[in-house]
Amino acid sequence: MTVVVTGAAGFIGYHVCRALLDRGGDVVGVDQDVAGSRLKSGRLGELGEPKGWRFIDGDITQLATVERLLADFGEVATVVHLAAQPGVRLSLERPIETTTTNVVGQVAVFEAVRRSPASPHVVYASSSSVYGNDSPLPLSERQERHRPASLYGLTKLADELIAAHYADAWGVQSTGLRFFTVYGPWGRPDMAPWLFASAMLAGRPIRVFNHGRHERDFTYIDDIVAGVLAAIDRASAHEAGGVRHAIYNLGGSRRVPLLAFIAELERATGAKALIEFAPMQTGDVRATEADIERARRDLGFQPKVSLAEGLARFVAWLGEYERRA
Ligand code: NAD
Repeated sequence: MTVVVTGAAGFIGYHVCRALLDRGGDVVGVDQDVAGSRLKSGRLGELGEPKGWRFIDGDITQLATVERLLADFGEVATVVHLAAQPGVRLSLERPIETTTTNVVGQVAVFEAVRRSPASPHVVYASSSSVYGNDSPLPLSERQERHRPASLYGLTKLADELIAAHYADAWGVQSTGLRFFTVYGPWGRPDMAPWLFASAMLAGRPIRVFNHGRHERDFTYIDDIVAGVLAAIDRASAHEAGGVRHAIYNLGGSRRVPLLAFIAELERATGAKALIEFAPMQTGDVRATEADIERARRDLGFQPKVSLAEGLARFVAWLGEYERRA
């Protein structure tokens, strides 16, 4: 049985594909504009050409593209939908593109799944950004009313509603995973771990918003991958139990003050941070911390990698990557 992974050349998608291939599965990855990106082509290069791996360059906002993915590669058991325009800042700069990719993309995936005779289970990426600044900590899936602080968070909340609709109206089974600030090797250059580490190693200053008073729940990539694999594997148990759509927080379940995070990064890089404080930015939330009880209970999710260990691994990888540039 095949797993289709969208956003396969992205940070989380690459790691998920690698883990699925390592355990001997058939994986069809889809992503777009790979050739023009050193990072995306580097990730796919790392995957190599193992048995069971196929890659398609295509746009998942096009229904016909997703339908072909589900029809052309044997019986698809699961679609792991990770392709998105991620990040709060990007959604401020490119609101239309963010909405098209994240919302139209979600509808295209669910519509193609609904039409597919194999009825695959969908595991899709949501985000801690669905919680807004008025959500009590730790952030819990039991909270019912949401007011995201960013357009990005709003598109992710819309994705959850789309999944719930396809479950109710068409019986499409899915699992939404709210990821909390994921970091690690082959990560994203627009996120704090990379931005800060890269600047610190080059002796450049870093801009720290909200005057350093942000707090974040950081999650190491291997822990996220374990959660995604568990969601894939638990799908049939959900189905047997009559669960059509479930949502889980996947986070490290620790709230780390940003200045403590920077101090940890100083230890990992051996470089001093030159901090420039700046005001709170539109779209940001002040603090995140995941309540992971539900994921622990249903998925056996248990984050294992400490921030110190995770940052050490990330910085070692970043040094290599930048040296090869
Ligand atoms: P990423 O940008 O590294 O990966 C996303 C991938 O999707 C990219 O490779 C991009 O090329 C691809 N993509 C975008 N539009 C596409 C389209 N129309 N057709 C095909 N491919 C397309 O981001 P990531 O950090 O790996 O995020 C993966 C998912 O997890 C996203 O849905 C994101 O919103 C979500 N998420 C990530 C984090 C995090 O901390 N990294 C936190 C919360 C949620």
